[in-house]
Amino acid sequence: MSDTSKKFIDAEALHKSAIVVDFHNDFLEEKRAKPEGMLAGNNLFQTDIPRLKKGGVDVQFMVVWTKPDIESPYLLGKQMVKTLQEELAANANDIELAKSYADIEAVLAKKKIAIVLAVEGGYIIENSLEKLEWFYNQGARYLTLTWNTGCDWIGGANEENKGLTAFGKEVLNKLNELGMIIDLSHVNAQSVDDVLKATDATVVATHSGAYAINAHQRNLSDAHIKEIIARGGVVGSVFYPYFLNGTEKATLADVVKHINYIRNLTGGVDGIAIGSDFDGIDITPEGLKDPSEFPNLTKALVAEGYSAEEVEKIFGKNILRVFRKVCG
Ligand SMILES: [Zn+2]
Repeated sequence: MSDTSKKFIDAEALHKSAIVVDFHNDFLEEKRAKPEGMLAGNNLFQTDIPRLKKGGVDVQFMVVWTKPDIESPYLLGKQMVKTLQEELAANANDIELAKSYADIEAVLAKKKIAIVLAVEGGYIIENSLEKLEWFYNQGARYLTLTWNTGCDWIGGANEENKGLTAFGKEVLNKLNELGMIIDLSHVNAQSVDDVLKATDATVVATHSGAYAINAHQRNLSDAHIKEIIARGGVVGSVFYPYFLNGTEKATLADVVKHINYIRNLTGGVDGIAIGSDFDGIDITPEGLKDPSEFPNLTKALVAEGYSAEEVEKIFGKNILRVFRKVCG
């Protein structure tokens, strides 16, 4: 039975016309582990240019992430930036680095995919604001303050009774001064509280879910979701099945469940975004196996009753709003 009170939305056309932004992707870590993999596409990873194109992706954030317990996360991080630069050079007809909102607009006008660099894991800066600035100068536009473990100045999701230190506050000040987004994904609850007290900046969680839907330490409490979004920030909906529903099997419906929850909690969609974590996750939801399947999520959102305007916000406009405000 058709619902005549609702305007028909062509989900496929909507997805094509929308600016699709994915806030979190770990291609660079997969490439580090398997250097023969290529962004041009040879099916070794979840992410490559053909699949980004098929999925209608316009802006892809790509993170430099390393394990904390290696000799120099900073030096490895630098190598990964170099790898990205080589990929950009090898695929200059399809992708281009963007460091500002104006850059994103310029790259999209050329019908290319804009790549935005980011850093995940605060230990990568090795307690040095100069090292942080080095990544900023290469184009990094957010710092995921820590990973699950391993940072001297802030607590990760797997650590208890650890908060933000005095140096951590200096890092926040530096990020605000540079115009780099503070990412709270992976940060433990105590440290999220500390960060929200230490700065009134617009902050984000690039790839997290709602704790009320699945009580996993990588997901955010209602209070934290509300505060992030009240400041104009966003929560990027992550696709990892364990975060979605606590098992290794999830579907599009689980992703939609988290999105619905955050919408109902905050009274709208202005704080909802997409942060897939492709190539950072070994298992994926049914219907979202790689970026080529992003259109399935648009279909699911439309079927759920989201308007075209709401889908456009969730899939890109909200992140672009934050990016323009914080990064310029
Ligand atoms: Zn992560």
